[in-house]
Amino acid sequence: MDNEKHVNWFALEKACGNEGCPVCGIINERAERYIDNMLFEHVSDRGFRAKYRASGGFCDRHAANLESFRDGLAVAILGVDVLTTILPELSRKRVPRFKGVCPACEESNRVEQEFLGYLADRNEEEFIAIFTASEGLCVPHYRRLLSLTKKLPRWLSDFQRERFETLLERSKRFVDCSAWGRQEDFSALEPQDKIVWKELARTLRGTIR
Ligand SMILES: [Zn+2]
Ligand SMILES: [Zn+2]
Repeated sequence: MDNEKHVNWFALEKACGNEGCPVCGIINERAERYIDNMLFEHVSDRGFRAKYRASGGFCDRHAANLESFRDGLAVAILGVDVLTTILPELSRKRVPRFKGVCPACEESNRVEQEFLGYLADRNEEEFIAIFTASEGLCVPHYRRLLSLTKKLPRWLSDFQRERFETLLERSKRFVDCSAWGRQEDFSALEPQDKIVWKELARTLRGTIR
């Protein structure tokens, strides 16, 4: 196992201990780190500046926290670039077109592919035990994995199928027990089954911030 694999293993192990899809968790953490790193270390990097300008800045999702960043100067330098680029068009009441992709989205896609590929290559018992104790992949990440690879390890496809089937059953039971006159059945549900709708929502959509 090379160094990089060690890093991915430990990142996944840590993410598996949290609520929600482990790959979503890693992407959130990496995107945050990427933005932080770009603002603090690479704000004068020409390549990054050009990309940032071409995409009109970070997308809505990745720009959401810019106002709370510690370093207003970095945010200002990048913002000046973007506004300078689009102002002539805005002034002429033209719609500015951005050809680039948000650099943080690009980084997230890279991380996503790397980790899904790494996951699809695992067959170590120790790893399987760690991963199958987590909530597993969200639907968007399982879809992505299916579109990326034809050769899924059996343990992973079995785990995901069972996980989705169980979730469906638990959710149906929640709906049935929520009917009028079934308060007793509802109170008899396990604590995690009383809030299964939350688990269903985050499994269907993922928890990418
Ligand atoms: Zn996910
Ligand atoms: Zn983005």
